Amino acid sequence: MLIVMRHGATEEEVQRVVTVIRDMGYQARPMPGAQRTAVGLVGNDGRVDSSRLEGLPGVQDVIHVSKPYKQVSREWQPENTVVRLPGGVAVGGTDVVVIAGPCSVESEEQILQAARLVKEAGAVILRGGAFKPRTSPYSFQGLGRPGLRLLAKAREETGLLLCTEAMDPDGVGWVSEVADIIQIGARNMQNFSLLRAAGRAGKPVLLKRGIAATITELLLSAEYLLAEGNHDVMLCERGVRGFDTMTRNIFDLSAIPVVQKLSHLPIIADPSHATGLREKVIPMARAAVAAGADGLMVEVHPNPENAKSDGAQSLFPDQFAQLMREVRVIAEVIGRRVAEPAPVGA
Ligand code: PEP
Ligand code: MN
Repeated sequence: MLIVMRHGATEEEVQRVVTVIRDMGYQARPMPGAQRTAVGLVGNDGRVDSSRLEGLPGVQDVIHVSKPYKQVSREWQPENTVVRLPGGVAVGGTDVVVIAGPCSVESEEQILQAARLVKEAGAVILRGGAFKPRTSPYSFQGLGRPGLRLLAKAREETGLLLCTEAMDPDGVGWVSEVADIIQIGARNMQNFSLLRAAGRAGKPVLLKRGIAATITELLLSAEYLLAEGNHDVMLCERGVRGFDTMTRNIFDLSAIPVVQKLSHLPIIADPSHATGLREKVIPMARAAVAAGADGLMVEVHPNPENAKSDGAQSLFPDQFAQLMREVRVIAEVIGRRVAEPAPVGA
């Protein structure tokens, strides 16, 4: 429920609303806006008696949020969330932000080479898993905490921001010490204890759509993060399981405008995990930018044939550089701009 205050409502009137909400046993979230202040009522099960709030001085309107997710909905917040990252990188505004790098951190040389080449081509955020959620327990599981140290080294050298996955609540602690963005992988989208830990971590979160999750389920998982007080949340479409193995997953580009209508959160597109083969990654990355994605996540490897995971979908360095040139043009056509990397040492 959202209590919208009149334009010019006083601080005392807002405080009174907050007090009444707390007296009723719920949490109050004041949200000052450019036009007017609203106070969100959270923790309710949808059966709140709003009459006590409607008559309070300064209250203009009481809105019952109709969706099962509340704080992530556009009803709750009409303006887009812009997630502000270090170095002036903003996700959810005009810029299209590119996150690129290998599937996994494999060695110091590999991640440093990858960082240099994705930066050179124009990415602003380096990806690379230190903790890998692998379907088989016998596949490479990632370097773990030493991998995080290598990522930190790559950031130090290149100035790129870091996005890397946390697989469990302990991992959230380790990842949040190093990363600029904590990634929650598709297989963990409904790992609610992990979501709660990430919601309390004090770092932006990239939440990937589950391998067979509906858009409503994705938004409800994001709600867990906001409910814990983390508002810096980016969603990620990475394909959902379909019936046709030819395309690996169904890359649901129509989820982008749907999410943008339902939610104020930014949405990034990951054509790499969606399609599984590099020849499909390039056209689908172009299409995702055209569809209005706020960013791309693309796997790139200095030497894809030797990759320890996801080599077949990893772009060769020159393919990635070419893709960056193309998406700059596509972004411009729709009134956007691909975010530029900061100069080294900045
Ligand atoms: C990844 O980004 O490294 C990954 C494992 O992706 P997903 O969770 O989308 O499968
Ligand atoms: Mn991967």
